[in-house]
Amino acid sequence: MRTAVFSTKPYDETYLRGAAEGAGHELLYLEPRLTPDTAALAAGCEAVCAFVNDDLGAKTLTALADRGVRYIALRSAGFNHVDLRAAAELGLGVARVPGYSPYAVAEHCAALVLALNRKTHRAYNRVREHNFALNGLLGFDLHGRTVGVVGTGRIGVCFTRIMAGFGCRVLAFDPYPGEEAEAAGAEYVPLEELLARSDIVSLHCPLTPETFHLVDRERIALMRPGAMLVNTSRGALVDTAAVVDGLKSGRIGHLGLDVYEEEADLFFEDLSDQVIGDDLFDRLSAFPNVLITGHQAFFTAEAVAAIAATTMANLTGFERDGFCGNQVALERT
Ligand code: NAD
Repeated sequence: MRTAVFSTKPYDETYLRGAAEGAGHELLYLEPRLTPDTAALAAGCEAVCAFVNDDLGAKTLTALADRGVRYIALRSAGFNHVDLRAAAELGLGVARVPGYSPYAVAEHCAALVLALNRKTHRAYNRVREHNFALNGLLGFDLHGRTVGVVGTGRIGVCFTRIMAGFGCRVLAFDPYPGEEAEAAGAEYVPLEELLARSDIVSLHCPLTPETFHLVDRERIALMRPGAMLVNTSRGALVDTAAVVDGLKSGRIGHLGLDVYEEEADLFFEDLSDQVIGDDLFDRLSAFPNVLITGHQAFFTAEAVAAIAATTMANLTGFERDGFCGNQVALERT
């Protein structure tokens, strides 16, 4: 099956090429992001392979369907960027890659917690300038601290295990509590209680209409003064403007982000020679107690290989049977 791969980076091509060997799929590697304007590049392809910041709104999907595309294979677990209603109406099958490596994301999340706490990012820069002073680098023992995990799916459970290993008490919130998190040491509590009791709050739920701005002004006011907030899930889970105010007031003591509400125009690109016009991002970056990475939590060799392998299996299912096990159905939103 001929598939147009949008937002292709060299590492995508390397891993997809390896996985496609023998699967009989012809991949057309395209650097541009998928948008209504670039959809025409998929002409002659039966399928499109897209990533997290590709635009899969109704306009793009219509443009793809008009050009003969029948299937969308996402290289991501999250599918919040796909208009599933439009896809269903257009008869487009959509598949994702669930649970390719919860370890990759959970471990990156732990790295953000550790770096923010011990200010490793600042220490690194200081030592390079031969500034060996410790002023301002004081951290705290993780042992004995309370960590709040919002969303106890694959990644949340993995992160629970890691933090329990540090000797943290783990509180969890999930509308669908699971035994695995409890077995890993988490105690389920209501979200408000989690926010009020946690020294560190980490988000591991999907972005849906219900979770949009889950961390808003009111919920930030419930957090412990000086608490750490970490978001490795999706940017729009937090109201960024409210978070900036929370940082200014000191309610939020540390902020770790791997995702950002308006990341689509920034992340995955080298913009180091450009002035970016996003004042909110620049404000966030200016805080000494904020650490931002550019949506790299998934980025381990194991995870990227698993994404490529599952994407090929999804395409094979679509080609052979017209559907695949990882298909995202409208009723799941
Ligand atoms: P998952 O589907 O296994 O788990 C998600 C959990 O969130 C489920 O248990 C679900 O019940 C829960 N949930 C749903 N609504 C909730 C709410 N309102 N409050 C609290 N919990 C809620 O997903 P996963 O594999 O653990 O991934 C979690 C998220 O991580 C994904 O949706 C994706 O957005 C993000 N992610 C980010 C990266 C990255 O590179 N930064 C990589 C992969 C996934």
